[in-house]
Amino acid sequence: MPERAYDHNQIELKWFERWTRGDLYRAEENSARPKYYVLEMLPYPSGELHIGHVRNYSIGDALARYKWMRGFNVLHPMGWDAFGLPAENAAIANKRPPREWTHSNIAKMKATHRRFQFSYDWDREVTTCEPEYYRWNQWFFLKMMERGLAYRKKALVNWCPECATVLANEQVVEGCCWRHEKTPVEQRALEQWFWRTTAYADELLNDIARLEGGWPERVLTMQRNWIGRSEGAEIDFASEFGPIRVFTTRIDTIYGATCVILAPEHPLVAATADAARRARAKAMVDARATKKPDDLAKEGFFTGAYAVNPFSQERVPIWVADFVLMSYGTGAIMAVPAHDERDFEFCSKYGIAIRPVIRPVDGALAVPASMKEAFGDYGILENSGEFSGLASEDARRKMTAHAERAGIGKGAITFRLKDWGISRQRYWGTPIPVSWRMCRSS
Ligand SMILES: [Zn+2]
Repeated sequence: MPERAYDHNQIELKWFERWTRGDLYRAEENSARPKYYVLEMLPYPSGELHIGHVRNYSIGDALARYKWMRGFNVLHPMGWDAFGLPAENAAIANKRPPREWTHSNIAKMKATHRRFQFSYDWDREVTTCEPEYYRWNQWFFLKMMERGLAYRKKALVNWCPECATVLANEQVVEGCCWRHEKTPVEQRALEQWFWRTTAYADELLNDIARLEGGWPERVLTMQRNWIGRSEGAEIDFASEFGPIRVFTTRIDTIYGATCVILAPEHPLVAATADAARRARAKAMVDARATKKPDDLAKEGFFTGAYAVNPFSQERVPIWVADFVLMSYGTGAIMAVPAHDERDFEFCSKYGIAIRPVIRPVDGALAVPASMKEAFGDYGILENSGEFSGLASEDARRKMTAHAERAGIGKGAITFRLKDWGISRQRYWGTPIPVSWRMCRSS
């Protein structure tokens, strides 16, 4: 080797030892300097750091060093996201206790991490599967419970009858259990824990305005759509099984409703349908384990029963369809095929009547036989009883007020945002700090 060649092994080792001895990056507890906290994320101890880690941690490291040099008292900690199902499964596969497997991975990864000489205060290292860490998660959980933000209710989960256990979405492969490739996963209603995310829906939505200018508009739009606030009305359609409450954002189109569609898990499905139909509804629910709402086939069936449109007094058939979700609105909709594209597709497929009741401001009412798509815009009401001739915006207000006066419905706001089911906690780790005895007595 030429005399002045750069021997990175030797030089890096020299500085590694020097910097390690120097204890350079310790955050001070009582410091007059301004505080700065840098946390990238805790890696999951899979056994090796990869180049994606290096990229991520280099960025945080650059920021932390910059702040040190600017005179800040920087807290830059590191730790291990070390709990949950991946560790459990790796332990089963490797036939080693999860604790042993996890800790040996941490030791390996920590050695690599230290050689990078990122500016961590290793005195602050945390390992999330240790009680001294997760007791704080549990403490948070109990505080949330006290405030009604953590609660239990029955909800559908992925269930493998072979394993006799709940599966995470990641463990369902093409509708079957990942351990039992020929066993179809069922959707079962079990008691689940939830965070009441919806308590913050309005606050989340309103505060997006504070990010304007700083965040890309595209991201803000995605956030708004994810919260999905819809202003509309809930209206009761009478039926022999009791009222069916539907949510609609377009009450102005209600004279064009030609059927009522229930989510397959709607409680009335059990009352309206015979055994064969109930089995069909259950199959639709099970199929959701593998499909996103947008990928559903838009399939449905007639229940054999009818409901009454409270505005027109018309008798309309009650259907069940896979694309109606129990978790959105009331779990039931009125289908207005002439003015909603999805309803148009569904009703065309099954030969359900299409009846236009809104015409464009500057045009005539569509003729059903020649319609190629729904007319989804606002316009002027036609064939809508006393509301005919009103503009959509005006009609929405007046028809909602009428429904409230007549006791057949009310103005309502609904969110796409749902309460967050955390029963996959087995996947993430921290045990829920509530015993069965506590659950039963409450
Ligand atoms: Zn299984």
